[in-house]
Amino acid sequence: MSERLDILTFHRIMPVGMKYFIPPMAMNVRTFSSLIDRLAANNRFIALEEGVRLLREGQLHGNKIAITFDDGYLDNFDLARDVLQRLGAPATFFVPIVPIEKQTVYWWDHLFAVMVQEGDQITSWVRARPYSNLLRSALEDIGEIAPDKRGARCRRLVQALNGLSEEVRGTFIHDLSIEFGPYSGDRLLMTWKEIQQLQTEGFAIGSHSFSHIPLTDLDEQAAGREIRNSANFLEKILGQRPSGFCYPRGQHSQQLGRSVEMAGYTYAVTTRFGSNQSHTDRFALARRNMSDFTGIRNHFPVTMHLVELSGILDGVLAARRAG
Ligand SMILES: [Zn+2]
Repeated sequence: MSERLDILTFHRIMPVGMKYFIPPMAMNVRTFSSLIDRLAANNRFIALEEGVRLLREGQLHGNKIAITFDDGYLDNFDLARDVLQRLGAPATFFVPIVPIEKQTVYWWDHLFAVMVQEGDQITSWVRARPYSNLLRSALEDIGEIAPDKRGARCRRLVQALNGLSEEVRGTFIHDLSIEFGPYSGDRLLMTWKEIQQLQTEGFAIGSHSFSHIPLTDLDEQAAGREIRNSANFLEKILGQRPSGFCYPRGQHSQQLGRSVEMAGYTYAVTTRFGSNQSHTDRFALARRNMSDFTGIRNHFPVTMHLVELSGILDGVLAARRAG
């Protein structure tokens, strides 16, 4: 019998009628609910920690699915939790310490808020500063785009910033917040109290590092601290050491995997696409990103996701997502 563990990755769950400006990071709650419903009917869910252990022991008995959430968004608590509880589906929530502790929004959410609220001012601001053509050209005409149409531009800018060094990106976001002030929109992240409640209700909480910086951008000591200190912090807050680690932006290496193991975790997840078998390195587990689709596939998103989870498209999808 084949034994395979599929790990689903979710970030944001959006209320009906609302879209997130980064579509690969969001699924509408209606789609989410139907998808979890269909998968629950086949009784294929397993808690991730248990799934990883049974897979290793050759005791998984068939193909199982584990649900994970990255980044600690409040909609996980407000919208996803209900669906998961109603259908008895276990899930693991990977939270980063600093963003939750300080309730600082992620830089991409801050950038989006500024682009929507301050479009006209950004144009003159960015012209007067010595930024690269890449950043200037993305922002120079933003005031001419209607505020509700700025999402696609912001998404492209986020992609561009992701390709720059942590230092360049950090300086740009820092300048932006000095000029336009701190984020002032709705609360986007869960509090520790909400995360504690998830744990009390039987969900698992894992570490998504201390500061949510890609660990391959750091030296070995600093990366080690991100891994260890986040486990210590969660242990203090939740009374229990986390068993799972989730690499920020999926950036991992064998050395990082060893640091994760040394810190007492029993597994780690990446953003590498695919399924996991008994021989898969448990400190570099593959996942499948779940989100709404764009275009024609979004007319039947649940079917499309079920087709993906059947595994028959893996060859095609692996090639596409590697490119
Ligand atoms: Zn993340």
